[in-house]
Amino acid sequence: QFHMIKYEDLRWCESLGQGSFTRIFKGSKIDIRDGERHVTDVLLKELDANHKNCWESFFEAASLMSQISHKHLLLVYGISVHRSKNVMVQEFVKFGALDLFLKREGSVSVSWKLDVAKQLASVLNFLEEKNITHGNICAKNLLLAREGDASQGSSPFIKLSDPGINVTMLGRDVVLDRIPWVAPEVLEAPERLELECDKWSFGATLWEIFNGGQAPLQGLDLERKLQFYETYKQLPSSEWTELADLISQCMNYQPAFRPSCRSIIRQLNSLITSGTSRELIAVKKLQ
Ligand code: ATP
Ligand code: MG
Repeated sequence: QFHMIKYEDLRWCESLGQGSFTRIFKGSKIDIRDGERHVTDVLLKELDANHKNCWESFFEAASLMSQISHKHLLLVYGISVHRSKNVMVQEFVKFGALDLFLKREGSVSVSWKLDVAKQLASVLNFLEEKNITHGNICAKNLLLAREGDASQGSSPFIKLSDPGINVTMLGRDVVLDRIPWVAPEVLEAPERLELECDKWSFGATLWEIFNGGQAPLQGLDLERKLQFYETYKQLPSSEWTELADLISQCMNYQPAFRPSCRSIIRQLNSLITSGTSRELIAVKKLQ
């Protein structure tokens, strides 16, 4: 179930690019409340005309996001339909996608990254408790609502975006391109998208966050990406052994062996202590 928004109440501004079967625009939404005109910045996600057959899946993503609420989950205002156009209207998040932010920002402190990881783990825990699988977790789908001070370590604030079109509807190439975020078992059987899949994606996203927003396996063609899974490879491990260990637990090829969200959160909390003391040591060495 979701709110329907009148197409006439939407204003379209600049393009922000394309997603999986979507075109993304900044825009605004006009509401008349108590006789007053309110204008809200929004993000307009339009389903590509070539993939109209995916509308049900597209609306399902919108519906999922409207049904649940969590501070780290992106707000979806509703759906707008106009002739053959299908549009998802969502909250506009000021600082955009996390991967781009990390690439742009040179120095981001360990505690800042850990904050982001903890926020993502908390929303995953919430979804796990509700037995909801997201299915498209990656740094691109984490939006930055507050920058914090990345170099000083003051807290950022992230929001997890909608999962978009379900993997069962995407072409094989699109899914292959999602290696290493998409869990290996999903490649074999896309309908096997279960809670454990999000744990795998969380591991890949953690890797991304700690590698400056760099896409893991960037530059590999689809064939090589597939080989990566077929030969049970792991991403290059971090020097920080506790972090590397958490990532490899999440990216276990056997779904049943991946950690619970509670365990992920516990491990992230202990990383915080060792991470901060690491920074202190680094600072002391400089003095
Ligand atoms: P997918 O389903 O694969 O995630 P998508 O349709 O969600 O595809 P993205 O590639 O995730 O599209 O998003 C494209 C770009 O749009 C992002 O890199 C980000 O810069 C911007 N963007 C997406 N959602 C928002 C939002 N709510 N607020 C601000 N910017 C956004
Ligand atoms: Mg997205």
